[in-house]
Amino acid sequence: AKKSAHDHERRKQISIRGIAPVENVCNIKNSFNRHLHYTLVKDRDGATSWDYYEALAHVVRDHLVGRWIRTHQHYFREDPKRVYYLSMEFYMGRTLNNTMVNLGLENACDEAMYQLGLDIEQLEEEEGDAGLGNGGLGRLAACFMDSLSTLGIAAYGYGIRYDYGIFEQKISNGWQTEEPDEWLKFGNPWERARPEYVLPVKFYGRVQPTGKGSKWVDTQLVYAMAYDTPIPGYNNNTVNTMRLWSAKAPNSFNLQFFNSGEYMQAVCDRNLAENISKVLYPNDNMFEGRELRLKQEYFLVSASLQDIIRRYKHTKARRERDNFECFADKAAIQLNDTHPSLVIPELMRLLVDEEGLAWNKAWDIVVRTCAYTNHTLLPEALERWSVALIEKLLPRHLQIIFSINHFFLEQVELRWPGDMERVRRMSMVEEDDEKRINMAFLSIVGTHATNGVARIHSELLKTSVFRDFYEMFPERFQNKTNGITPRRWLLMCNPGLSELLSTKLDSDWATNLDKLQQLQKYGNDEKFLHDLMIIKLYNKTKLATYLKATCNIVVNVSTMFDIQVKRIHEYKRQLLNCLHIITMYNRLKRNETAGFVPRTVMIGGKAAPGYHIAKLIIKLVNNIANVVNNDPQTNERLQVVFLENYRVSLAEKVVPAADLSEQISTAGTEASGTGNMKFMLNGAMTIGTLDGANVEMREEVGEDNFFLFGMTVDEVEKIKKEGYYSKMYYDQNAELKEALDQINDGTFSPEDTGLFRDLFNSLVFDDRFCLLKDYQSYIECQQRVNDLYLQPLQWARKCLLNIAASGKFSSDRTIVEYARDIWGVDPSGLKLPAPHENPG
Ligand code: PLP
Repeated sequence: AKKSAHDHERRKQISIRGIAPVENVCNIKNSFNRHLHYTLVKDRDGATSWDYYEALAHVVRDHLVGRWIRTHQHYFREDPKRVYYLSMEFYMGRTLNNTMVNLGLENACDEAMYQLGLDIEQLEEEEGDAGLGNGGLGRLAACFMDSLSTLGIAAYGYGIRYDYGIFEQKISNGWQTEEPDEWLKFGNPWERARPEYVLPVKFYGRVQPTGKGSKWVDTQLVYAMAYDTPIPGYNNNTVNTMRLWSAKAPNSFNLQFFNSGEYMQAVCDRNLAENISKVLYPNDNMFEGRELRLKQEYFLVSASLQDIIRRYKHTKARRERDNFECFADKAAIQLNDTHPSLVIPELMRLLVDEEGLAWNKAWDIVVRTCAYTNHTLLPEALERWSVALIEKLLPRHLQIIFSINHFFLEQVELRWPGDMERVRRMSMVEEDDEKRINMAFLSIVGTHATNGVARIHSELLKTSVFRDFYEMFPERFQNKTNGITPRRWLLMCNPGLSELLSTKLDSDWATNLDKLQQLQKYGNDEKFLHDLMIIKLYNKTKLATYLKATCNIVVNVSTMFDIQVKRIHEYKRQLLNCLHIITMYNRLKRNETAGFVPRTVMIGGKAAPGYHIAKLIIKLVNNIANVVNNDPQTNERLQVVFLENYRVSLAEKVVPAADLSEQISTAGTEASGTGNMKFMLNGAMTIGTLDGANVEMREEVGEDNFFLFGMTVDEVEKIKKEGYYSKMYYDQNAELKEALDQINDGTFSPEDTGLFRDLFNSLVFDDRFCLLKDYQSYIECQQRVNDLYLQPLQWARKCLLNIAASGKFSSDRTIVEYARDIWGVDPSGLKLPAPHENPG
């Protein structure tokens, strides 16, 4: 009885999800039962939900294997130019549903589980997120992997297999606490360990000059073991590889022991080596110059380059390639931020010290092979490694960096004779306090392309921090506006909307997302707009059901869902959102209820564990929620929810349910944002600043269909130059003053009235991100949001126009641009034949 209505709804055969012929369903059921028996060693009486999930995961995995092998056979035979995406983060989220979508197995699996009396959605909920990332940068890498496979590009992701991904956030008494993310606790059915591919990575030691160059000796050894994860393209039988490295102590580790105590110690000390891949650093947009992090970065770089060179040398066409003449024509290495920028000195070291190439020859290869993506201009996020630390850990690399800098500065002097100030500014070696290496400067100099991640950001690179470098290498600077994969962020997370779109669009819209433009013509089609609103309401209801079930939070789906989910950061201005909430609350308390649209404001995101202000912001949101939600005078109209443990799988539930997306960073601070695109694609309206990709989103959809507020970059620069005194805005704006005073006077912290003093002080006496200046503009803009929401059909029309205009933000478009302008590869559109499969 339980599974009647709901399941019936779900099992309506959805056209874009692939057909479910009887024999397919039958094969899947057989395979499922076989895996339950042989792989999990369970029967139906003893099996848990996890066992069922894992059995289904194995069924789906079996469909990947043939395609995976065939793809790599194809690459080996054809020897196309390989693209290597090196990233310290891959924020993959869950894999099961995404794999079913990309292989077109969704309907068949759905039907098979139904026939077995199981709820596939419940099984999907068993899977934990692969949380090997912090936020946008790591999620971008994951979206890129999907697009690279879908476009048939011979690409590999290289990263680290952290034992612990991003921490689990728990909220206790309103405060964030962190728990370790034990994502491998029950094993990982999607990865394949390759103990046959262990590669040595060296640390410490010293440099020994020899007759023929330098040798790096007396080093400590750690092994890198490969774990491969298949990355299926959408509907093209291509399966690329993401290879993540795990640290293994060598058997010789600390071998010199003389007694049993030392032997015991030596075995225990193996941990020291294996700690390298233990845990992801939980900072977003923040550099923390720890030795272990530098070890992680070099570990990734060293293992990946050895693997890349091995693959270059060993091709089917020419069994051994013994020179590097065509290396740059056969490999493109993309650096996801400066985190893997040690590629530059390490590849130099391998080519010069190990392969015996001349410096200039090697340098030419390095520059032509590598390219660098910049992700932020925030000074606190730029990597500036201590020279003393590099000297200790990687002495040969420090020498090489010094040489690179030396030859580079010679070029600068040649170009601008006598301009010693310029030479000083452009040195990779900063001499201010402690000597440091500026890794962004190294990355620009050591690559043939530097790109920003949205147009405005790429322009700012050229005019602000990297201006000197732009003047020297104007041809190297490019823009590649970020994108998101429409497979995960629409097909998978929003089947209702996908189905509706499929009734109007060509069937290949998910791989040609510009086709969404065809939706424009339904802007006045009331039936269509009504269907759109029904789907939104359905998604809101699903989120509401989830919140009730998991957090015991009850929300009213007939209110506007006003959502800000992203890492907690001062520049992202969650506090501006709070000031708006408090303002609404005060107005309601004054009985200014006329025309007020009831709202549920949801805020979610993790704070870096060491980021005091960010953690205080979380506490403030929760305390505001406590006051507002428990005030009978207001709680019919205003509710505040802090969404605990925001992560990829929660984003997949939240994004389709949003009415309003908050993208409110100070102009010039958010490089691109990608959350903004996800909401747009799923039919939310955006309230936002002219920052990052918001600028291009607004350009695509038209200014009438975007809620714009706040200063422009130029205005921010101007006001800061003139001297910005936020207290002036506090003194002059009564509603703003009231809200800030309430934060300061204990209105939201009666148990400890001074609790939020640091927040108050940071806003009133510093306000680095100009919240107080933008407050009035934001409040007025929120009023326009309110007023439009009172006209449901107009609102729905604008949501539709947003969906229709979001095609540009497919990561397929982004990857095509990287391929053409940076990597020099053609998206092959490779569609391999389906393997002859017999999973039953
Ligand atoms: N965190 C998660 C889990 C995400 O899915 C995204 C989406 O892009 C982000 C962070 C980045 O969000 P934003 O671009 O708003 O910072």
